[in-house]
Amino acid sequence: MKILLKNARVFDKTGFQSKDVFVSEGIITSPAGRSPDSVLSLDGLYIFPGLTDVHVHLREPGFSYKETIKTGTAAAARGGFTTVFAMPNLNPPPDGRAGLCAELAAIARGALVRVLPYGTITKGSRGEELADFEDMPEAVAFSDDGRGTPLHMLEAAMHRVKKLGKIICSHCEDVSIKGGDHIAENSPYAKKLMITGISSESEYLQLERELAIAEKTGCPYHVCHVSCRESVELIRRAKARGLDVTCETAPHYFALDYTDIDADDGRYKMNPPLRSPRDRQAIIEGICDGTIDMIASDHAPHSAEEKSRGLLGSAMGVVGLETAFAVSYTALVRTGLISLHRLVELMSINPAKRFRTGAFWGDGGPADLAVFDLDACHTVNPDNFLSMGKSTPFAGRRVFGECLLTICGGRIVYKKDGL
Ligand SMILES: [Zn+2]
Repeated sequence: MKILLKNARVFDKTGFQSKDVFVSEGIITSPAGRSPDSVLSLDGLYIFPGLTDVHVHLREPGFSYKETIKTGTAAAARGGFTTVFAMPNLNPPPDGRAGLCAELAAIARGALVRVLPYGTITKGSRGEELADFEDMPEAVAFSDDGRGTPLHMLEAAMHRVKKLGKIICSHCEDVSIKGGDHIAENSPYAKKLMITGISSESEYLQLERELAIAEKTGCPYHVCHVSCRESVELIRRAKARGLDVTCETAPHYFALDYTDIDADDGRYKMNPPLRSPRDRQAIIEGICDGTIDMIASDHAPHSAEEKSRGLLGSAMGVVGLETAFAVSYTALVRTGLISLHRLVELMSINPAKRFRTGAFWGDGGPADLAVFDLDACHTVNPDNFLSMGKSTPFAGRRVFGECLLTICGGRIVYKKDGL
């Protein structure tokens, strides 16, 4: 399939250039002297390198009633993502050869976009025995996401993972100082429900200890879903000291805070929780000054029933693949906080660079791209999601920026009707 994308504003190293893009045999080439099978006129639209989401729960194998690789990657394609990293809280878990092979087989059967699996840090992410890192060359990195890893296990893991040239991605959480559960401590709704809530210390004190281990071992270290002010400051200082550390945050940590919780509704429940307005401001500052390297959705689908039990009874996690770009663009770029170019770096260039998953972007590079209409405004309606998960705190929000077309490896994996 040879596709000519005409007259778009195309991302490059320095900005956006008005030009045509020719896709042929999975590669972006110059359109000069070539005849396409189809032509799409993209006046006023933008072409970005395909977005990369380093933190996605696809739920298969093991939890296909929540999401499958097919539905999760369809949601990714619709969000403009051509590469997603799949978290390993699966059954069987990818903690050795057999578990990883089961996941790779499911990916081969169902994936619409590139899916790169995480291996676990410990067997079954139970924190008791290290995973077989050396037997999982296909693992993009290692994480026990969903729970914290005991420090002595983390240190042993870092020594081995460093030798493999890979990255430890940490869900920083010390449950012994978590305080309460469900939502953030001191939040208005925690008071209303008369519960203690989750402390910030359980995130940042664990992070502080893990940074010390990363410094000692020299293992590349990435912090998942940074949500509080102290964490941003710790990472800022660690980077200044020269540590090999990067981090991500998720759209709900800079577009919302705990004052937005206006109902006893599971769609406001995720871990880490929505924190204070001050924390939200610190996350934005971290994005603006480069402390925060990338935006990831932490797409974590559950069944409608699992999310229907209010703030106390619902499962932790919300979906995000189909809202991540629009929410980020609306909250950060339309408000003038960062440039569009920087947002594309946060959602495509930086994750690909850090995890060495992306080839170069441009003529001769792989045809992984997304076409966006940045002036298209819509109200988030989970009923229209391709994901099986429908629980999002952004339901009903007006957002700008809509993906119209996603091409992965030269194949059209999403196209909006009417384009
Ligand atoms: Zn996590």
